[in-house]
Amino acid sequence: MSAQESAGRPASVPLLDVARGNAPLQTEFVAALENVLDSGRFVFGPEVFELEKQIAAASQAKFGVSCASGSDALLLALMAYDIGPGDEVIVPSFTFFATASAVWRLGAKPVFADIDPVTFNIDPAAIAAVVTPNTKAIIPVHLFGQAADMTAINAIAAAHDLWVIEDACQAILAEYDGQPVGSIGDVGCFSFYPTKNLGGMGDGGMMTTNDEEFAAKLRLYRGHGMEPRYYHSVVGINSRLDTFQAATLLVKMPKLAQWTDMRRENAARYGELFQAAGMDECVILPVEYPDHKHAWNQYTIRVPQGRRDALRQHLADHKIGSEIYYPVPLHQQACFASMSEHASLVETEKAALEVLSLPIFPELTAAEQRYVVETVDKFYSTIQKKAVA
Ligand SMILES: *Cc1c(COP(=O)(O)O)cnc(C)c1O
Repeated sequence: MSAQESAGRPASVPLLDVARGNAPLQTEFVAALENVLDSGRFVFGPEVFELEKQIAAASQAKFGVSCASGSDALLLALMAYDIGPGDEVIVPSFTFFATASAVWRLGAKPVFADIDPVTFNIDPAAIAAVVTPNTKAIIPVHLFGQAADMTAINAIAAAHDLWVIEDACQAILAEYDGQPVGSIGDVGCFSFYPTKNLGGMGDGGMMTTNDEEFAAKLRLYRGHGMEPRYYHSVVGINSRLDTFQAATLLVKMPKLAQWTDMRRENAARYGELFQAAGMDECVILPVEYPDHKHAWNQYTIRVPQGRRDALRQHLADHKIGSEIYYPVPLHQQACFASMSEHASLVETEKAALEVLSLPIFPELTAAEQRYVVETVDKFYSTIQKKAVA
């Protein structure tokens, strides 16, 4: 038992404590960053290409192409497929904004499809229902760290000649039938934003693909469409992963598998604790589908009967961090108000009212998890007492 556990109830539990993961690596970070400083190679230093290789290998993809963020990875993938005005791209509405904004920024239309209420991932039947002759691509999001239903999605894509762009920003090292995300569709998009499972010290992103020509196109688009120098065949953007970020991420890479296992252990422990407390009848626990290796970027429960916000407040009163990913589905965002008609998105709208993400980061202790579950338990026992009174 660690000192923290034997000390009993924790004073507070953060939703995420990045410092706990980074602190033991401090010396290695400083050495790696000093090395970059000494080299003076701040853009496209050797660390950038080494990281591209390692992320590609971890995803079992042949090529990795780095860029400035996960948002840019999505944008670049769409640009390299020549997606633009008149084109439609099918996306979930229950996701982070970037999944749809990348489509919008290119003048194409994000077409929203509803989700599977169990995994929160885009529902293949809902995708099939909104395919039109203008559809060019599907962006399944492996939300919270669990792979979307890729067999069905790839089958729809094959039938209609669509690109599959995996939004794997939350799901590095997650697997679907033994295959890591990022190599299941045509291209995978990753983010190194600090809250992701492989988080840098700022922004960063990566695309993975098995298609050599497409990888070259991604490199072209991330560098202003310039090849050779000062000759531009297409209009690209400037989106690079800087060498400092790559050096930081290379220090973290050897730990990623272990950190993922720790997240998985924490998820299993929550399951046991919630069940032991009988709480699995009050809240709906997240499910890992068979043969989907969940990477648990988030541990997201559902709180039915309109009690989510009260429970969140109760947790906050006990200094327990939680977050709502995502409170407003994208089809209801003000910026997309001009797109008035949508397919039925009832599961999306219901999820937005019920979801609550609890702390799941690798270094979270068993004592902290017990405190979280006890505090949820207390919330429900107070309600029951009130109901009886
Ligand atoms: C984080 C995230 C992104 C964007 O990544 P950034 O690196 O923050 O730009 C895109 N999609 C999903 C699902 C994400 O979680």
